[in-house]
Amino acid sequence: MSATQAPQHSGYDIVIVGGAIMGSSTAWFLSQDPDFDGRVLVVERDVTYQACSTAHTNSCMRQQFSDGLNVRISQFAADFVKNLRSYMGGDTRVPELGIHSFGYMYLADNEDFANVLRENQKMQRAAGAATELLTRDEIAKRYPFYALDDIVLGSINTIDEGYWDGSAVFDWLRRQAREAGVEYINNEVIGMTRCVAGDAIESVTLKSGEVVTCNKVVNATGPRAARTAAMAGINLPVEPRKRFTWIVSAETPLDRDLPLTIDPSGVHVRENGGGTYQVGAHSAIDPAVDYDDFTMDHALWQDHVWPVLARRIPQFEAIKVQSEWAGHYAFNTLDQNAITGPHPEVRNFYFLNGFSGHGLQQSPAMGRATAELLVHGAYRSLDLSPFHYDRITQDQPIIEKAII
Ligand SMILES: Cc1cc2nc3c(=O)[nH]c(=O)nc-3n(C[C@H](O)[C@H](O)[C@H](O)COP(=O)(O)OP(=O)(O)OC[C@H]3O[C@@H](n4cnc5c(N)ncnc54)[C@H](O)[C@@H]3O)c2cc1C
Repeated sequence: MSATQAPQHSGYDIVIVGGAIMGSSTAWFLSQDPDFDGRVLVVERDVTYQACSTAHTNSCMRQQFSDGLNVRISQFAADFVKNLRSYMGGDTRVPELGIHSFGYMYLADNEDFANVLRENQKMQRAAGAATELLTRDEIAKRYPFYALDDIVLGSINTIDEGYWDGSAVFDWLRRQAREAGVEYINNEVIGMTRCVAGDAIESVTLKSGEVVTCNKVVNATGPRAARTAAMAGINLPVEPRKRFTWIVSAETPLDRDLPLTIDPSGVHVRENGGGTYQVGAHSAIDPAVDYDDFTMDHALWQDHVWPVLARRIPQFEAIKVQSEWAGHYAFNTLDQNAITGPHPEVRNFYFLNGFSGHGLQQSPAMGRATAELLVHGAYRSLDLSPFHYDRITQDQPIIEKAII
């Protein structure tokens, strides 16, 4: 870690642990709330952000979820991204962003999964998403480059579903939050102390030695979330799971945009512009990994991913890897969905965890909702209480069937 920074004050209204997209979204929404003028400290252990999930993301959004709340969360993301400058007070330094809506193409090779897609589509359309179901012939007509012999159904939505510039949104959330008075420091939270009654965190301890008192604390520590919760004596079923990305160039690029295609094998590939494509996959054995383990699995590419791609899109027989990286999902082992809201007993400890593969697009809604809870004690826009921690202790998963 580069030189640590001491906090300017000995106490804060809100301490946010982790300053990547979730921490910064929360900080930004807090900084924009006219009813809030408290002190906010964001503690970030690596201000280069090079190892966090936010830096390794594929930066796409979709409305094809099986849970209606996830659909509405992504709809807010689309609105936020497309109107970023206006959300940010018309600040002309803020770029005008769009969404490259090539859509996600789910491919089903059996009737069971086709039925899941059919059910999902009904729910998604009722929630306002433009999901379409396509027969094999319809897919072939629109996207003649696929080999579809084994495919029985496809599902795609080309409105507000595709790539967006997550790093620009992250930069501006952070920049405006700081300009509005949120204090960010390069430091690490290494401990938490509960009050005598045991029902609240009264202070956090920093790696540099300072003990900082707080009224509320937010856990926005991505794949390290369980470690942070453990400092408060709380169990959290979140672990780092490795996800690999490859950028490839094709000798003969496709003649139209490639949707983010989810092959039945789980390998996914999408348009990346200029004759390049972004590919994602994980190993069949998918254990929790060390927080600092980002080594690639070269055999996975050679023996599994490339053959799958070449089978699904025969033009991809001739592709070349240009770059590759491994990143970590903050994998919620109960149900791969968000864990939000306050802890039921340690009442001032707030979760923003377990987003698995869809946290980037959830960051606007999650930051907004968490800021509402912190300031007003209740949700004012989207009610995220189904994602609260209680479902963990009650073992009531919200199963999301459309996980990538
Ligand atoms: C390969 C890959 C592809 C993905 N693709 C998509 C996608 O297409 N769409 C999508 O929506 N999502 C995607 N995701 C998921 C998304 O990137 C994450 O859900 C999101 O970035 C999580 O943000 P975060 O702020 O919660 O966590 P992180 O970005 O991991 O940030 C956590 C921060 O907390 C800091 N921290 C940890 N412990 C401490 C401590 N004790 N003290 C101080 N600081 C601490 C870390 O340094 C880090 O900066 C993808 C993820 C990966 C890995």
